[in-house]
Amino acid sequence: LGGSISRALQQMSNATIIDEKVLNECLNEISRALLQSDVQFKMVRDMQVNIKKIVNLDDLAAGHNKRKIIQQAIFNELCKMLDPGKPSYTLKKGKTSVVMFVGLQGSGKTTTCTKYAYYHQKKGWKPALVCADTFRAGAFDQLKQNATKAKIPFYGSYMESDPVKIAEEGVERFKKENCDLIIVDTSGRHKQEAALFEEMRQVSEATKPDLVIFVMDSSIGQAAFDQAQAFKQSVAVGAVIVTKMDGHAKGGGALSAVAATKSPVIFIGTGEHMDEFEVFDVKPFVSRLLGMGDWSGFMDKIHEVVPMDQQPELLQKLSEGNFTLRIMYEQFQNILKMGPIGQVFSMIPGFSQELMPKGREKESQARIKRFMTMMDSMTNEELDSSNPKLMNESRIMRIARGSGRPVREVMEMLEEYKRLAKIWSKMKGLKIPKKGEMSAL
Ligand code: GDP
Ligand code: MG
Repeated sequence: LGGSISRALQQMSNATIIDEKVLNECLNEISRALLQSDVQFKMVRDMQVNIKKIVNLDDLAAGHNKRKIIQQAIFNELCKMLDPGKPSYTLKKGKTSVVMFVGLQGSGKTTTCTKYAYYHQKKGWKPALVCADTFRAGAFDQLKQNATKAKIPFYGSYMESDPVKIAEEGVERFKKENCDLIIVDTSGRHKQEAALFEEMRQVSEATKPDLVIFVMDSSIGQAAFDQAQAFKQSVAVGAVIVTKMDGHAKGGGALSAVAATKSPVIFIGTGEHMDEFEVFDVKPFVSRLLGMGDWSGFMDKIHEVVPMDQQPELLQKLSEGNFTLRIMYEQFQNILKMGPIGQVFSMIPGFSQELMPKGREKESQARIKRFMTMMDSMTNEELDSSNPKLMNESRIMRIARGSGRPVREVMEMLEEYKRLAKIWSKMKGLKIPKKGEMSAL
């Protein structure tokens, strides 16, 4: 996919005369990529029309960095399509908000409810979960298990079969307990059915939610628009969460959901675990839609800040997807040497924030140096392995002793490694652009 877009843009750069025909060819090729990413046909067509209005052929003809102009225009247009123009309801800490989750069965509602609760709990909210799904067997058990793990109070019933009654009672109870974020999980059906929407309408009427969140599986493809619209017609959907972004689907259906509900995407789900949940960030999302990966900016930056002689080797390692402790060590060396490389890592979601938070560069550097001291006590086998299981207890103790650092810090360093390795694993199979192709995408 990314390849086809790169090719399209490459073709453009080779054409000596940029005319409308070339622009069309380029747009068509990018449109195909978007359709493959599940962006709705009509939206792709609208995007094409808008791009033609925006991109000034004379500018292109004059040779003003053609590829950048078109790329930027398409990128901006897609970002705009994901922005409904108004933010979603803002929760206020200490003031009770009721948030209702809706979506088809299997979309990830129950999982996402807990993630959402957990996310806010960490930020000082007092959340609670209400299970108003009496349709799916085991729904209450699932929510109970999740809630217990996250130490979040929950409400539900094995006996009561009326979801409206449970929802009402649950919300009532948690209001009394001064919870400031009461989350109502609802049932879904496999298909869009009248009974489901009637149930959603009634639960909403009984609980008066401040916000209704539509949960959407990133892989539902072209069905997203109708699905989102059907929910919007029965309850006041005010936000969208796209789940399973860790899979292969690019989530182009999100554009449809935004259009159908006139609501923004607020979070994405990136795994089954409680903390695999990210605040929605439009730019990496659109990069991914276009098949650019989250890595396009990163690759550009690598060329700016990683020493020339180290680049091919690093890129090769990255594309193999084997992130070893030694690679981490070498990258730490770069970070300390170059300082501004922090910028490079800020291109990667979840990276800079924790490794080099803004304003805390000094502390971060000291931490990185400590990590390196510990890594100096590692064997070659340990440094060159990409298997974290290798690091058993006795090895951890040995490294702690050898480096004179507490075991806790060794563990922390290994956690950091695991986190980075996970991010790095996404680079596996990455096509390494040759020199000169770099600025194309
Ligand atoms: P519900 O029927 O809408 O309540 O959906 P569930 O919350 O029960 O989720 C259905 C399945 O999707 C479960 O197996 C979840 O673990 C899984 N799931 C939910 N969100 C994600 C996600 O972001 N990534 C992945 N990989 N799996 C997810
Ligand atoms: Mg559920």
